[in-house]
Amino acid sequence: MAELTFAGAAGTVTGSKHLLNVGGRRFFIDCGLFQGTRNVVALNDAPLPVEADDVEAVVVTHGHLDHTGYLPKLVRDGFSGMVFCTPPTAALMQIVLDDAAHLQEEMLQRGLEHEHPSTPPSYYDERDVARTMRLVRSFPLGTAFDVVPGVRATFHNAGHVIGSAFAALELEGKRVVFSGDLGRYGRALLYDPDPIGAADVLVCESTYANRPHPADSSDALRDALLAGIERGGIMVIPAFAVERTQDILLAIAQIQSRESRISRLPVHLDSPMAERVNDLFEKFPKAHKPIPCARASDAFGVRNFTLALTTEESKALNRLTGPALIVSASGMASGGRVLHHLHNHLAQPSSTIIFVGYQSRGTLGFFITHGARSVRLFGDVLPVRATIVDLPGFSGHADETDFTRWFATCTTKPQLYAVHGEPASALALAAFAKAHLGWNAMAAHRGMTVTL
Ligand SMILES: [Zn+2]
Repeated sequence: MAELTFAGAAGTVTGSKHLLNVGGRRFFIDCGLFQGTRNVVALNDAPLPVEADDVEAVVVTHGHLDHTGYLPKLVRDGFSGMVFCTPPTAALMQIVLDDAAHLQEEMLQRGLEHEHPSTPPSYYDERDVARTMRLVRSFPLGTAFDVVPGVRATFHNAGHVIGSAFAALELEGKRVVFSGDLGRYGRALLYDPDPIGAADVLVCESTYANRPHPADSSDALRDALLAGIERGGIMVIPAFAVERTQDILLAIAQIQSRESRISRLPVHLDSPMAERVNDLFEKFPKAHKPIPCARASDAFGVRNFTLALTTEESKALNRLTGPALIVSASGMASGGRVLHHLHNHLAQPSSTIIFVGYQSRGTLGFFITHGARSVRLFGDVLPVRATIVDLPGFSGHADETDFTRWFATCTTKPQLYAVHGEPASALALAAFAKAHLGWNAMAAHRGMTVTL
């Protein structure tokens, strides 16, 4: 008998953790941290439905922290099985987990965890990350492998971030598909998601299942940059170091080639992590579309580009005069160097802050994009006087159009469980699958166990 327990990302968009029990052998699909409000972050401390040392393996769909960030904690708690992922995901996971360990340590040392409840407390350090990485076994897309005896898995392209995959499991004569995070069709850097094929069960994310993304994100970015240049101040883009920064850099390079006022704009990337991710695009050329304008190590062809790697180089940006653009992590302003730039510029009427993706409840980015008049940062209360721009069109998640297209590639009528979304979007995905495709479908909730 096979059972599936939704231990995370059910009713929330973070903390992805799906526990399978196949004939008494237990393994997770993804093992992520909960991020967001204090209440959601507190779920990281809730006991798992299984002892860590009873877990035999973890299949990781992609490198994001909300899918991988609990792994070093699981290892610290006694897990010593194998971690399966694609080769680019293994490389990305090293970067993401190194950063998480570093950030947790920094927040703890500086006592900032109370100010930014969206950042999880210190669960692990770099040694735990090193122990985790020694458990990793990577398999390319399309290559079947045994997760535990009797369960075979294959990764297929999900088009969400470099290396991202959906996992198709063959167990007890059934094909069970976990979407991981689903990307979008027609992106500049990544290939379209692979077809689903046949599935008896489909566990699918639903982050943006109830809304369409604006189509013209590149034009909207151009307009925001032109308006920012007009105001003459500093522009700050809090960008997720993984994928979004690369999408943004490529978009800026393309805009610069068409728009002379933007081609002269100094662009500063202040994120050593994003620079490490840029390198992956060179290391794994087959994992993304050919880059049209330049090599990834040339910042995707961005002109007037400067990279701030050291703390001193980052601090030197405090003396920058506008107009100039700083791209810095993290994307939801929940930590990282971008906090210093927001501290410098939020109260400046000539400055522009451009958000480029999903802002979880409880994050600084959420408050700012939802009209906060003032925010608390590094012990100061700052009035928000800068122009705030929200460009959700750069999202790496499928929207309702992408889900419709991806579901059409399923050759059977599976049982659908909608996960990884606020309740309204998970319910919307299930309702769509029922009404338009005739599938059995429901939104999963945390702690629910179903028989496969
Ligand atoms: Zn993701």
